Amino acid sequence: MPGLNFPFVIGNWKMNLTPYESETIAKKIVAGLPPEGLPVEIGICPSYPAMERVQRVIAKTSISLGSQNMFWKEDGSYTGEVSVRMLKDMGCHYVILGHSERRIHLCETDVEINKKVKLALQYGLVPIICVGEKYEERQDGKRDIVIMNEIANALKGIDRFNQLIIAYEPVWVIGRGEAIDPNEAHSAIGLIKYTLKDMYPQKTIDEKIRILYGGSVDEKNITNFVDNENIHGVLVGGSSLKPEVFIGMIYNLAKKFIDSKLNS
Ligand code: PEP
Repeated sequence: MPGLNFPFVIGNWKMNLTPYESETIAKKIVAGLPPEGLPVEIGICPSYPAMERVQRVIAKTSISLGSQNMFWKEDGSYTGEVSVRMLKDMGCHYVILGHSERRIHLCETDVEINKKVKLALQYGLVPIICVGEKYEERQDGKRDIVIMNEIANALKGIDRFNQLIIAYEPVWVIGRGEAIDPNEAHSAIGLIKYTLKDMYPQKTIDEKIRILYGGSVDEKNITNFVDNENIHGVLVGGSSLKPEVFIGMIYNLAKKFIDSKLNS
């Protein structure tokens, strides 16, 4: 597992691929990366039915498995849900929680997200907590309050953790094909850091929390966002379904990282 200080790319395949298609794309991604790896931490979040096949493909690579969601109870009579123990058993390392598509279409609440984050941390999964404003909220000048509330609610009562990730995803940019101005992402992420400062010591924030940007990132714009200081990586939807684009993103990020080390 690459260190915390490498840039991070994680693909969310959503409900787009069959297990066979997922396996095929995973194989193309593995084949497109050097066997010795690159200075980039990489994750892939396939659908539940595809997890086992994808995990077999990435098992001996530097790519780790993630889940798009999990349920907030450990186990029990919850028909159709998937538990944290099942994800651990599948070899998952990350879990995306509170994605806007789940908040909107599945009416997922802050309270549920908070329970999920606690359970994920208890079982050693790295939660990737998604926060971000909808278009109308942005128009109404509510961006900051939405972000601050979503973070405070997701992390309520959580004071101990080894690692967690917050993804700033302006909802109106997801799947749009055009990302926001990187300056705007940086301003939102400044606010996230400010919110976290009220909750945790600076050392905890610096050493244990990473912040991602998500929303229409591709191989051309990725390096405008990730600077390893404020934005540690990206959460990628559409572009992660195109192996050549996903691989291009990883290479571009690795190059930027290596150049920055050589120049420092
Ligand atoms: C997402 O759904 O989290 C996402 C970032 O999607 P896209 O990259 O397609 O905008």
